[in-house]
Amino acid sequence: MEQARNMSKHALSVVAVVFERDAAPVAQDKVLGLLGLSCCPDQRCRWFEETLLTIQLADPVPAEIVAAVGAVPGVRRALHLPRGRRLHHLAAGAPRSPVRLGPAAAIGAGGATLIAGPCSVESEAQVCEIALAVKDAGASALRGGAFKPRTSPYDFGGLGDKGLEYLARAREKSGLPIVTEALDTSHLDAVAQVADMVQIGSRNMHNSTLLFRAGAHPLGKPVLLKRAFSASIDELLEAAEYFLLGRFAAGHAEPGIVLCERGVRLFDDLLRFSLDISAFPVLRARTHLPIVADPSHPAGAREFVTPLALAAVAAGADGLLVEVAGDPDQSWCDGAQCLPFDSFRDLARKAQIVARAAREAPPSG
Ligand code: PEP
Ligand code: MN
Repeated sequence: MEQARNMSKHALSVVAVVFERDAAPVAQDKVLGLLGLSCCPDQRCRWFEETLLTIQLADPVPAEIVAAVGAVPGVRRALHLPRGRRLHHLAAGAPRSPVRLGPAAAIGAGGATLIAGPCSVESEAQVCEIALAVKDAGASALRGGAFKPRTSPYDFGGLGDKGLEYLARAREKSGLPIVTEALDTSHLDAVAQVADMVQIGSRNMHNSTLLFRAGAHPLGKPVLLKRAFSASIDELLEAAEYFLLGRFAAGHAEPGIVLCERGVRLFDDLLRFSLDISAFPVLRARTHLPIVADPSHPAGAREFVTPLALAAVAAGADGLLVEVAGDPDQSWCDGAQCLPFDSFRDLARKAQIVARAAREAPPSG
């Protein structure tokens, strides 16, 4: 039933065309003419940032027409997505797309990639201490919020640009790449300059402008996109599609996006959120994009973080985003769910054992 609903949703084919910024209006007429259209039907055409035009069509478009569209003067590139196919879809037999995280790490290339650090950056000393400790325990990247989404407007909203500076210092000292959140298009530039991977948080999963601009950003930084806590798996994938269209518009070759399951809101109030374990195998079947788990925000309490993390890795997570601090009870934000260093070390060791066991090939014959 769900499958049928998704198929009907993608029942039209799409042609996506990237125009030069100063393309003459005649370029658009030529493109439409090649596609057999006399004008741009409003309900089927959509412009993104005045350069990318997407057109939904009832019929598939032959490859030579797509090539001719791409060759129109004033057009940079064109792409055809046949009916039932979107940029996030996993094609039969095609490989998954690992995403680089700094010069040495990748997510989705095997094992469990660990990203760890405080909920929010509080001082240079705090992030530097945590960076060195999580690296020593096996983390491949440091997380930490400089711009924090908060439910209450009176709660600590992050150190902003100062926090980004401290993260850069922590990278210098530890060599770990940085994952940090962009809350808004207005500071996307500042975040993209410092981050090795830009986090787009659950509250922004529906912010299509932020997603598209993050994809089209000239620095080409990869993104970690968190599932909104009341979004379906399919809505998460459609959100990723906005980012992937941005990448196409900017000419970035690699998909550069990692999905993150961080818990959805169910009826149980003993946990902060309910980690949707089924999301991992379902996403692995649907998309070529890597998937990580955030076990900290659903747990809401330290004691539940490791079991949730290991369950996620067993279910197919390519990595984990974990909140860790030297003295969690003193954290300015989310201390109750934050692991101390020794617990993170234990989690890191067990996660690799579970990843190996879960990905082991079944005995042949
Ligand atoms: C976070 O990772 O710091 C965070 C705020 O998470 P989420 O967007 O999933 O609530
Ligand atoms: Mn947090």
